[in-house]
Amino acid sequence: MAGVLTLARALAEGGSVVWDDPPHHPKLRAWPRHHADLERDRVQVCEVLSRAVGFRRQLVTPGPVPFLRLPNAPEVRDGCLSCGVPLQGGFRCPICALGAWIALDVLPPILEPTSSPPTPFP
Ligand SMILES: [Zn+2]
Repeated sequence: MAGVLTLARALAEGGSVVWDDPPHHPKLRAWPRHHADLERDRVQVCEVLSRAVGFRRQLVTPGPVPFLRLPNAPEVRDGCLSCGVPLQGGFRCPICALGAWIALDVLPPILEPTSSPPTPFP
C-alpha cells in the first residue's frame, strides 16, 4: 500500500488532482519533494487514479447516488464494496477508498491540507 500512502501524503500536503481535460486522464499536481516517491510508486498511484476515474464517471451519470463499484467486481461477503477484494475490516480497500475520496474531490478526513498550489507532477 506504499502508493496509497504516497499519494495520500502528496494530496494532504497541498497536491491536487486536476480533472479538466480530458476527464478520463486526470493530472496530478504535487510538490517537487513528492515527485520521486510518486514516481517510485507510480503503478499503484496510477491504479488509485484509474479507480477514481471510474468512480467519478459513475458520479456524473444521471440517476441515483452511485455505489462506486468497479465494473465486473465480484460480490463477496466481507470484501471491498468497490472491488471485492477480501478485507479484514472496514468497507473499502485502501486503493478504492482513496480513489473514492479523489473522485469526490474531498481529502480523506485524516489528511490535512497545507498552503498554496504545487507544481504539476510530470
Ligand atoms: Zn477495493
